[in-house]
Amino acid sequence: MSGRRAVFLDRDGTLLELVAYLHRPEEVSLIAGAASALRRLGQKGWLRVVVTNQSGIARGTFSMKDVLAVHERMLELLHAEGADLDGIEICPHHPDYTGPCSCRKPAPGMISRAADRLGIDTAVSWVIGDRSEDLQAGHLLGARTILVRTGYGREEEVTARSVQTPWITRVADDLSAACELLLAETARAGSQEGAGDSPVGPDMAGGSTGA
Ligand SMILES: [Mg+2]
Ligand SMILES: [Zn+2]
Repeated sequence: MSGRRAVFLDRDGTLLELVAYLHRPEEVSLIAGAASALRRLGQKGWLRVVVTNQSGIARGTFSMKDVLAVHERMLELLHAEGADLDGIEICPHHPDYTGPCSCRKPAPGMISRAADRLGIDTAVSWVIGDRSEDLQAGHLLGARTILVRTGYGREEEVTARSVQTPWITRVADDLSAACELLLAETARAGSQEGAGDSPVGPDMAGGSTGA
């Protein structure tokens, strides 16, 4: 399958500083280095798609309108640094309130929806997030994955060292470091894209593993 390559990234704790139930534009703050990382990805021809679980909508904590206002502010901050996004996918559901859905991470629905719409080949794409669920969603579709140590990432890394999490294949300090890592790996892999991945288990080392 030939398709475009993309980086699917989580929003809270990966692109934006973690704020519990973030729903006010004035609380939006980009993680340091995130905008320049996204700008660099764009320059190298990668699509950049945010995929975000927003169960606060199902719970009635905030509305879709609030989420869209947050995204408007997020884009404003990105644009101010010359960066952009190619898509934003939102899951507004929560199984306890709205029943099961196919888009809430770790389900891969948001990624496959964006992939269909933008002509993305998930097998040559990457997923970056601060939670295990973010990466599980991408791994199911054959994408490679990077856990970032921002947001909940440090706690998730500790857990990943004690239980088998084959969907976590790399660990990086933040979005910027994750982008450097994936650009270096894809440059190195060249036509051997996908070769040499090894799951991160209890023995995983920090930074680049496998390959
Ligand atoms: Mg997150
Ligand atoms: Zn959903």
